[in-house]
Amino acid sequence: MVKGKAAGVEAVATAAAAAKAEAQRGFQRQAQERKGPRDRLAQSRRQEWLEMEQLRQQLAAWTGRCGICKGAGLPEADEHGLAQCRRAEGARAREMFWTLQRTIRFDPYSGCFGCGVPQTICGRWEDNGKGGHQRAEGGRCQYKGVLLAGVLGAGFGDEGRAWEPWQRRLRGLGVDLQLDGSLARYLGRKRRLEEVESNNLVREFRWLLRSINA
Ligand SMILES: [Zn+2]
Ligand SMILES: [Zn+2]
Repeated sequence: MVKGKAAGVEAVATAAAAAKAEAQRGFQRQAQERKGPRDRLAQSRRQEWLEMEQLRQQLAAWTGRCGICKGAGLPEADEHGLAQCRRAEGARAREMFWTLQRTIRFDPYSGCFGCGVPQTICGRWEDNGKGGHQRAEGGRCQYKGVLLAGVLGAGFGDEGRAWEPWQRRLRGLGVDLQLDGSLARYLGRKRRLEEVESNNLVREFRWLLRSINA
């Protein structure tokens, strides 16, 4: 009887401990669940900040640089831009450049409407102190045309090594490269990151540079 009672007490104690442990686990799980999205948000903001830093460097590096000659590994790549390139692919890329330059319309709030570069980078804008941007007095787009020249230079350069995979990628996104207007529409479309307002031209610039290891 005594033994039975002791066993009973023990069972109750075990059950209580188990319940306590379960409550503890539940509490930890909840804390984790509350913390999870915050951590993910902080991480994606960090990631985005790094991306913008990298974009800043890429834009600086690709100003006045010819993607076609760069892709072909020619040293004169740094001495002229796409507009001055004398290689045969240069003429084709330029033709596309001017067509797209004329037809791309950037969505509202998708970066600088003049050049497509995110407003945190483009010199036409300055911080308005309220989490947004305003026109900077005397500011201008220091990287005008650089994104598009980079896209086409990287796309046409190096015997078009990146062209096929890029075309496949775009087709997957429902975009036709045959200049029926869908490419211009796609490139101008807004693409909101965590905090930065951006667009597909920036996205493709980054993708192509990565694919040619530049
Ligand atoms: Zn060139
Ligand atoms: Zn601009």
